[in-house]
Amino acid sequence: MKLTFLGTRGEIEPRTAEHRMHTSVLITFRRKRIMIDCGADWASEVDRVRPDAIVLTHAHPDHISGLTNGIGCPVFATPRTWDIVGRWPIPNRATVNPRDPFGVHAIKFEAFELEHSLRAPAVGYRIGSGAATIFYSPDVAKICERHEALSGIRVYIGDGAAITRPILRKRDGVLIGHASIAMQLEWCKAEHVPAAIFTHCGTEIVSGEPMTVQARLDVLSSRTRIRTRIAVDGFELNVA
Ligand SMILES: [Zn+2]
Ligand SMILES: [Zn+2]
Repeated sequence: MKLTFLGTRGEIEPRTAEHRMHTSVLITFRRKRIMIDCGADWASEVDRVRPDAIVLTHAHPDHISGLTNGIGCPVFATPRTWDIVGRWPIPNRATVNPRDPFGVHAIKFEAFELEHSLRAPAVGYRIGSGAATIFYSPDVAKICERHEALSGIRVYIGDGAAITRPILRKRDGVLIGHASIAMQLEWCKAEHVPAAIFTHCGTEIVSGEPMTVQARLDVLSSRTRIRTRIAVDGFELNVA
């Protein structure tokens, strides 16, 4: 399967040519196109993407608000996300339940609960084409069943909101916000994940001096021995 990072910007003000559009990834496999997340930046551009299906992680505006005008293709989301989407004109709705695998065309998806938001609970997805499996969690404070989510995956695709210092607070015993790249690489190391790509970039990355950002990543990468890179809009990856 081929991954195309359509957008790599988080819910932040700054935007650059590298991180212009809200975070979304397109999976292409056997001529079918599956788009994950469709934030506000995509409202007038989702038609250009021509998705055969859309899968949503959670109901924050930078992940769903591109769908306010509706769409005809099937859309997959958890019941909590559908509650927030409400009456938007999306006739073809499928419900996703955590740990209940489902197929979208020939791709297998399994949702895992994440801690990230109380109002818009998020899931991450284990995604496989048979040959290889990846995990995609663009907004994450904690993966609830981390071992089951990450074991055996080829690539972890995670949250680039913060490099070393996480953006976290705790309410009702639940973490809200964003784990740092450093924390996520430690999760990957514990589960022997060989490579990680970070999307949903925050101001540290989007507005940072590129050489400095790369140097900080290099330190984390060599410490954990995980191949690490920041995705930019348009970046493509073949996962065989
Ligand atoms: Zn987000
Ligand atoms: Zn979010």
